[in-house]
Amino acid sequence: MEIKVLGTRGEIKPSAPYHSHKSGILIDNKILLDCGEEEFVKYNPKYILITHLHPDHAFFARNMQPWDIDVPIYAPQEFEGMDIKVTDSPFTIDGYKITPIPTIHSIKVKSNAYLIEHQGKKIFYTGDMIWIEKEYQKQLSQLDLVITEASFIDKGGMVRRNKETEQIYGHTGIPDLIKLFKQFTDKILLVHFGSWFYRDMKEAQSQLRELAKENNIEIVIGYDGLDLTV
Ligand SMILES: [Zn+2]
Ligand SMILES: [Zn+2]
Repeated sequence: MEIKVLGTRGEIKPSAPYHSHKSGILIDNKILLDCGEEEFVKYNPKYILITHLHPDHAFFARNMQPWDIDVPIYAPQEFEGMDIKVTDSPFTIDGYKITPIPTIHSIKVKSNAYLIEHQGKKIFYTGDMIWIEKEYQKQLSQLDLVITEASFIDKGGMVRRNKETEQIYGHTGIPDLIKLFKQFTDKILLVHFGSWFYRDMKEAQSQLRELAKENNIEIVIGYDGLDLTV
């Protein structure tokens, strides 16, 4: 599969030229994963899969204006005024098997990651997340690539708890994501960088190199425009 990274900025102000666009990954010029910028439509995706309706992943959620577009959009929940396909079950589009995997991230919106299988290759894309329940992890063996978020460099990330419902929300840290995903892959592409990354980008890169070495995996630091083949 040909992977094009369109955007790598999380929900923060732009501060670096190659990290100016919000979330978006294009697979084989066909499937767009998240659409943090309306301009991604210029790549003419045939399908759009949204991980969750936070505006840095679904730009139309920012002003709550329905997006009038003639491309099938899949998401974990409906959006008023739009014909969104909501499904928790695996489905096939154009020969790609897509399996939505629930992720823990927010209280207000539902979130899914997507397992994409095509011609013997498997990639897994998550939006923002804290954790994936054990029952779903079973489906994640032998992934050729995991694409995940990089909001926080410190272990534990930023996880909060709603006092009434006890539900947790937020983002876990990169070391936790690596620990989780290295069971299933030896290559992780990081996108959705938080402010820690821009404070000192040289230092940030060396921290990530160190984590890769410690965990004996390959870490690819995503940037807007990066092309990758798996
Ligand atoms: Zn986000
Ligand atoms: Zn989010």
